[in-house]
Amino acid sequence: MTVTEGTTRPDGGTIDKEALRRKYAEERAKRLRPDGNDQYIRLTGDLVHYLDDPYTPVAPRAPKTDHVTVAFIGGGFAGLVTGARLKEAGVDDVRIIDKAGDFGGTWYWNRYPGAQCDTASFVYMPLLEETGHMPSEKYAHAPEILEHCRRIGRHFGLYDDALFHTEVTDLVWDAGMSRWIVCTNRGDEFTAQFVAMGTGPLHVPKLPGIPGIESFAGHSFHTSRWDYDYTGGDPNGAPMEKLADKRVAVIGTGATAVQCVPHLARAARELYVFQRTPSSVDVRDNRPTDPDWFAQIAEPGWQQRWLENFTANQTGGMPEEDLVMDGWTDLARRIRDRIRSLPPEDVTLDKMIEAFEDSDFEKMEEIRARVDATVEDADTAQKLKAWYRQLCKRPCFHDEYLQAYNEPGTHLVDTDGKGVERITEGGVVANGVEYEVDCVIYASGFEVGTEYTRRAGFDLTGRGGRKLSEHWAQGMRSLHGIHVHGFPNAFLVQPTQGANLISNVPHNLTESGRTIAAVVRHVLDSGRDEVEVTAEAEQAWIDLLLSGTPRMLGAPDCTPGYYNNEGRDPGPAARLNVGHPQGAMAFFRYLDEWRESGRFEGLELR
Ligand code: NDP
Repeated sequence: MTVTEGTTRPDGGTIDKEALRRKYAEERAKRLRPDGNDQYIRLTGDLVHYLDDPYTPVAPRAPKTDHVTVAFIGGGFAGLVTGARLKEAGVDDVRIIDKAGDFGGTWYWNRYPGAQCDTASFVYMPLLEETGHMPSEKYAHAPEILEHCRRIGRHFGLYDDALFHTEVTDLVWDAGMSRWIVCTNRGDEFTAQFVAMGTGPLHVPKLPGIPGIESFAGHSFHTSRWDYDYTGGDPNGAPMEKLADKRVAVIGTGATAVQCVPHLARAARELYVFQRTPSSVDVRDNRPTDPDWFAQIAEPGWQQRWLENFTANQTGGMPEEDLVMDGWTDLARRIRDRIRSLPPEDVTLDKMIEAFEDSDFEKMEEIRARVDATVEDADTAQKLKAWYRQLCKRPCFHDEYLQAYNEPGTHLVDTDGKGVERITEGGVVANGVEYEVDCVIYASGFEVGTEYTRRAGFDLTGRGGRKLSEHWAQGMRSLHGIHVHGFPNAFLVQPTQGANLISNVPHNLTESGRTIAAVVRHVLDSGRDEVEVTAEAEQAWIDLLLSGTPRMLGAPDCTPGYYNNEGRDPGPAARLNVGHPQGAMAFFRYLDEWRESGRFEGLELR
């Protein structure tokens, strides 16, 4: 057994790295399954009711047959930040379309008890400076974030032309008119000079393909459609008094379950949490914002400074300062300190990877020690420990989740990587035991890794009748993750092939929004009708992306999950799901110069 010096456990002992690597591999092997993404089922047919909007009634309205300058698909952060920048640029008719009943995107749907952001509010919530809002906590809760989305909508006049409870079904480029024809499930058929899409990566809820799911005779729902009529309580955390006499099952232990389980543990008569893979749960340390402190930091340009500082800390920059100071920046800081302490002759790629692994081992040992220190029952504590590198799965941060297992009515049902076996009329079967319950709550996540057009719900038909799905048949192709050849006047707002910054997705969206507003303004000012990336510029961008080393996140040797296509080979197309080879900060600097130069290199105006 090899024990490498210098990697220490929280109790001061030395970490046996070889033993840990073996343990990680064993745990990963338990979770590998041949069906990959196909283990989940889509919510169609008899299951479509799981998608109903429990929050806002659908209002009747007449179909739209008019013309707008910009149609934006998606009313979450992407649509809001882009809409705001377009309005600032003097584009008055921006029509945002969303399947939800209001703005907010993921924050419209996810109203489960305990929902809050996992990245500090000061960098996560966009346009704070413009709207003058001070987040009330370091990690704001969902109702405040949803209200902030509405605030942005009101502040920038984005409600005026918005279409809610509306799903785009078709987007077709009309070359004769130089316009897009937009069709929806509400009978709309209108035109737009420009279209942009911010449909979000995680918005199609999925259920595990567990046999018998339709046969359950009790009550059930997905966490993104929380049924407060059934549970009582509200999204602000009021006690769910209607659960006091109920036996409740939660399926899944990802970031959503980590946030809602403490509330359920307090409310339900009995709570059974069905676990396949434990999450890593680090310290949250949330606290209210001190208005005096905020007044000091909120000088003009503060939010952009914070965004850049967080991203630089997260992505291997070497800033002297860490403004956010949390679990995300902690790991990055440790790695940086280790690399800084290497003697000059040891600053090689191999040594840097070793430093990364050592920091991760230390961090994960701390997280596992935290479980022992918090959970009273030793067997439950053992089962709650995560055996993989921290970034193999979505890291979680919470100060009440582990404690919930000390509640007498809360039971962890660990399935040792196998998952729930069956759902019956009366309950949930795992490890050969049937647990009778009144309610099943699916904290089973959202579709990831399926085709863009499937998740968006529509395909684009571009120049010459070519579909986006055809253009992307061998993988995504774009310039900057925004412009696609063959699809004039169309823009994407999302991280891939741009900064690809996962720890703070809104930073990607903010920069894309700014860029799109600048491009649209430029086209309108030039008196031209169309803008399109050239085939050469798109190819050159792809070549640049492929020149980088593959990222660590979602490595194939990780425990299966949506970060690594459930542990299955994602095929050659996935090698294009990358970001700028020099990292997020390099991309943002480059994009800023590209935009500010006013030359918009790679784009062709007609
Ligand atoms: P996830 O996909 O992360 O989790 C789904 C859970 O369901 C996993 O624990 C999975 O186990 C489990 N599961 C699936 N099938 C079975 C089965 N057959 N039996 C038992 N368990 C099963 O979904 P979440 O909704 O938790 O989170 C999705 C993403 O949304 C997060 O990763 C994060 O990016 C985002 N999010 C962000 C939040 C924030 O910023 N505040 C809060 C919540 C979510 P296994 O791990 O083994 O696959």
